Amino acid sequence: MNFQPVKGTHDLFGEEMIGMQYVIDVLSATAELYAYKRISTPVLEYTEVFSRGTGGSSDIVRKEMYTFNDKGDRSVTMRPEFTAGVVRSVVSNKMYAEGGDLPLKLYYHGPAFRYERPQLGRYRQFHQFGVEEIGIDSPRADAECIIMAMQSLYMLGFKNLRLKINSIGDEESRNNYRNALKEYFSGKLDEMCEDCHERINLNPLRILDCKVPHDQEIAKGAPKIKDYLSEASESRFYETLSIINDLGIEYELDDSLVRGLDYYSEVVFEIHALSDAGVDYGALCGGGHYGGLVKQLGGPDLAGVGYAMGVERVYNVAKDDGLLSELDTGIDLYVIPVGEEVLDDVFNITEEIRSLGFSVDNPLVSGKLGSAFKKAERRGAKFALILGEDELERGVGQLKNLKTKEQKEIDLNDLENELDEAMKPFDEQEHHHHEEKE
Ligand code: AMP
Repeated sequence: MNFQPVKGTHDLFGEEMIGMQYVIDVLSATAELYAYKRISTPVLEYTEVFSRGTGGSSDIVRKEMYTFNDKGDRSVTMRPEFTAGVVRSVVSNKMYAEGGDLPLKLYYHGPAFRYERPQLGRYRQFHQFGVEEIGIDSPRADAECIIMAMQSLYMLGFKNLRLKINSIGDEESRNNYRNALKEYFSGKLDEMCEDCHERINLNPLRILDCKVPHDQEIAKGAPKIKDYLSEASESRFYETLSIINDLGIEYELDDSLVRGLDYYSEVVFEIHALSDAGVDYGALCGGGHYGGLVKQLGGPDLAGVGYAMGVERVYNVAKDDGLLSELDTGIDLYVIPVGEEVLDDVFNITEEIRSLGFSVDNPLVSGKLGSAFKKAERRGAKFALILGEDELERGVGQLKNLKTKEQKEIDLNDLENELDEAMKPFDEQEHHHHEEKE
């Protein structure tokens, strides 16, 4: 038997795992700067959370969900996206009642599942990082959310981001627009794909997302949402844009951007970035305002705004562009025992060093000195601490800087000070590196 991972899923380990974790750490740190707190909701939700939340006309709900009946014959779904589940959680826990402390600011990350055709930048199990800001209905909240998405990518070192923005308006705007689309497409349906025949009845907006080239060609001539925005939606949109503009963040208006999920209203956006080499992994981030979702899922009439980033995509572009090349993945120290007799002492000293807060390992069994040094190197250790019987009798160790090869004897009874001293140049370097980034 030779088991492979399920099609469209992938194992994360080594360099990729470290890089993905770093991406999540930076995105989380940025969210914390904006006063967001982490939330973690179950992977499994009752299927209605998504069919009512994410929306019955979306491709996600129609075709891409991992849905099954559990042993109690309840239909459950592995989350294809987070927003519906997070809003479900806000409602189940009545979070909005907590002393009127609105907006709720929640960030999340974890795996999501979609039965899509696997390809570059597209998996069946992938990871999202995202935020939801719930309870303040204002263009300023929408703008803050968009700005934060951009800032968190700037924090990772991205330079050439393309922010695409559109407004799909309030309910009145969208109703008028849907009617206009229905009228436009109904005469052209014969030439269009099967899916679009369904979309025109479910939600003609979804036709604008159709991936079939000929259908896209036809969609180019369709009416534009901007001509159907209500006055309120239009002025709200311009207010959002001017806040973003005042901060010096560039954006492109894209009137074909409607987003594939049903809950959006008013402003929607996407962030794109080609790698330096020109590779397109797809949108890094998508989000927008949602007016009716909280109510739709049984809560009060609260608006929200949020976005989700694909962690794999952000990681891949960051890696290709060298933004992750200086990640410090090594340990501080590798203790090298010389001879079988010192193994117990080395074991204990290793534990002592760990309790001082240094990352450290040892080979656990005795072996050749050369192979122990190789292991130290593979662990990315900054130092080796060599301990033989002679050293232990004298209460000392040989501390070797594995980069400069400098070696010095240190006092094992003063380990904390000795190691602090030895690590100083590295701490400064890290600090310096950090400052440069800012
Ligand atoms: P969406 O919820 O469809 O707007 O997706 C938000 C973000 O998640 C996208 O911009 C992508 O970065 C990422 N994403 C969506 N679907 C996938 C997938 N199948 N594989 C990898 N990343 C994805």
